[in-house]
Amino acid sequence: MIKFKIAALAGDGIGPEVMHEAIKVLRAVGKAFSLQIEIKEAPVGWAGIDAAGKALPDPTLALCKSSDAILFGSVGLPGRDSTIPKEERPERAALLRLRKEFGLFANLRPVRLFRELSHACPLARERQGDGIDILVVRELTGGMYFGQPKKTETVSEGGQTFQRAIDTVVYTTPEIERIAHIAFRAARLRRRRVTSIDKANVLENGVLWREVVTALGKQYSDVALDHMLVDNAAMQLILRPTQFDVLLCENMFGDILSDEAAALAGSLGLLPSASLGATTGERTFGFYEPAGGTAPDIAGKNLANPIAQILSAALMLRYSFGLNDAAAAIESAVAKVIASGYRTGDILSPADSNAKRVGTSGMGEAIAALV
Ligand code: NAD
Repeated sequence: MIKFKIAALAGDGIGPEVMHEAIKVLRAVGKAFSLQIEIKEAPVGWAGIDAAGKALPDPTLALCKSSDAILFGSVGLPGRDSTIPKEERPERAALLRLRKEFGLFANLRPVRLFRELSHACPLARERQGDGIDILVVRELTGGMYFGQPKKTETVSEGGQTFQRAIDTVVYTTPEIERIAHIAFRAARLRRRRVTSIDKANVLENGVLWREVVTALGKQYSDVALDHMLVDNAAMQLILRPTQFDVLLCENMFGDILSDEAAALAGSLGLLPSASLGATTGERTFGFYEPAGGTAPDIAGKNLANPIAQILSAALMLRYSFGLNDAAAAIESAVAKVIASGYRTGDILSPADSNAKRVGTSGMGEAIAALV
């Protein structure tokens, strides 16, 4: 009996190449752990438009709805996107539509700097300590990006007429609790430390955020909780990134800090992400994708690094299916392959004499073999 149904939507550019390697690794882990995994592929993005006239064809959406998780590549091709109306373009018509359709409210972005890739990190070696390993948990459906009122209006005051733009930050207790639960549970699978980010010294939302997270933290007495103001967190990420395990952020702070943290890993090709929706029973519906885009500059040349896509598949096993051992097997295979010197072009250092240059498929094969 099939226990885990996966919709694999490779998309455009490097999407199909890196997805091919992720599926290879999933099949290897399925075999090693006797998992009943079913993977069905469907077109999305320009591949969807070319196949069925829409960035998210109806059969693709139907497949997603009948699956337990979506493993996504990337969509969009800069050369073609501008040729069709904005609302039909892949990022809006497929990616944003899927996020909305599945109520994805939590975004998880692990950032890990492998010791062997310290040359790729923009920080001096002494700031990298024994390695950087941070999970940014970002609230995805509330805060300033969605709060009402949101408008630009013309105002006349004191004999002057000018434009005024208004954005509103709104968070409710249930919204904060929901994302905080995700952060505390994720910390239990890691080093059991949550740093909650806010601006409690200035913002009403920050005060509520801190109160709610503190109260909820009492349910997780095995996880250490501390609080940090967002401006200090931005600085600490550069000065002493090794102090962090899980960073819990509202939407806008998480958007900014997750990109700042991502820069520490050295290449977009290494960074996976998970977006989680509702949990039913033991399953959490999730959408898993690499942090980068379709990389048209290297697409179709066997040059892309498949690790971000492969690690996204590992996140899927952990967060949607609760298969922590299988996820860890993939992550440890990735770490070993990097330690043995396998390098795609984006993480290759000319100074590294032990490096074995490989293409997309060579990297995927090495990881699958170790799994
Ligand atoms: P990009 O992330 O595709 O590329 C930026 C740089 O990073 C390029 O030099 C690329 O070669 C490199 N890179 C990215 N992933 C890599 C990998 N796995 N291995 C090695 N190098 C890698 O960003 P962009 O060029 O700004 O965007 C290209 C297209 O992708 C655009 O159409 C954009 O809209 C789309 N995009 C889609 C998503 C998504 O589907 N979630 C996200 C970002 C961008």
